[in-house]
Amino acid sequence: MTMLPPPSTKKLGLVIDLDTCVGCHACAVACKEWNDGGQFGPLPDENPYGKEPLGVWFNRVHTYEVDRDQGLGARDERKIKSSASPAVQPPKSAAGSDPHGRRFAGPWPLAPSPSPAMTVHFPRSCLHCETPDCVTVCPTGASYKRAEDGIVLVDEDKCIGCKLCSWACPYGAREYSEVRGVMQKCTLCVDRIYNDSFEEIDRQPACVMACPTRARHFGDLGDPDSAVSKLVAERGGYDLMPEMGYKPVNKYLPPRPRRDGCASKAVSAPEEKADLSAASPILRWMDRILSR
Ligand code: SF4
Ligand code: SF4
Ligand code: SF4
Repeated sequence: MTMLPPPSTKKLGLVIDLDTCVGCHACAVACKEWNDGGQFGPLPDENPYGKEPLGVWFNRVHTYEVDRDQGLGARDERKIKSSASPAVQPPKSAAGSDPHGRRFAGPWPLAPSPSPAMTVHFPRSCLHCETPDCVTVCPTGASYKRAEDGIVLVDEDKCIGCKLCSWACPYGAREYSEVRGVMQKCTLCVDRIYNDSFEEIDRQPACVMACPTRARHFGDLGDPDSAVSKLVAERGGYDLMPEMGYKPVNKYLPPRPRRDGCASKAVSAPEEKADLSAASPILRWMDRILSR
């Protein structure tokens, strides 16, 4: 059993915009590249060029198709609490299928019905929860939460590979290395964000810096005046699975409703007919040819 520290005022985390994420996996690759060579690596791959490449990824991007007919909570009436304004009735969450036809209840809220079918890309990494059981179940103290900024880390020297923490994490954010026999996970790039040898602008997680659509934001979610807190307030950012009581620090911004291209009838421009009765014979001939 490992104790959690008292709640910190500083809560470092990520805000991920499901509206602008295009599922390019740049964040996942940048994460792997940075951490593989850093103090938390290596992040081994097993059978990397095989049919089912396995290995350790701190950040994974999942892509889902949300059905038009049941995309708006037909199966999942879960309450999703807006961390910004709890008084606002949250929209229902979505259900759909991934590209392989597997059914799921999506964790993101959507705009009120009707909404066309849409594709949602969902990056998933550790949410650096405030009250996570992944820490308290750890028998050796290897899993711990930092008192000063709330980052949840694994001390690999203390990890005995019992996997209790991965059973306790409802978000599937822990990654067990079969090669090394230890548990690994997102470190919030703690070796970047406090790295004095970097320019101030580069003291951000690798995944945030790599995202080409600026769908990932890093900052202090414990400070209501920080840019990330304001973004969450403006866009109705929400907690993933709040009913678990883990209080994730990371927030997700919901996808905005898509325009329904099928519903809008194509409107053709009215045909313009010029009066050429007074024009020269050659011009009338040309008009006849070009109008065919
Ligand atoms: Fe622990 Fe999972 Fe929360 Fe990360 S997301 S702090 S691994 S419970
Ligand atoms: Fe990976 Fe760092 Fe992003 Fe965590 S914060 S997902 S460790 S790049
Ligand atoms: Fe989405 Fe940005 Fe990651 Fe690409 S890099 S998958 S756009 S979050």
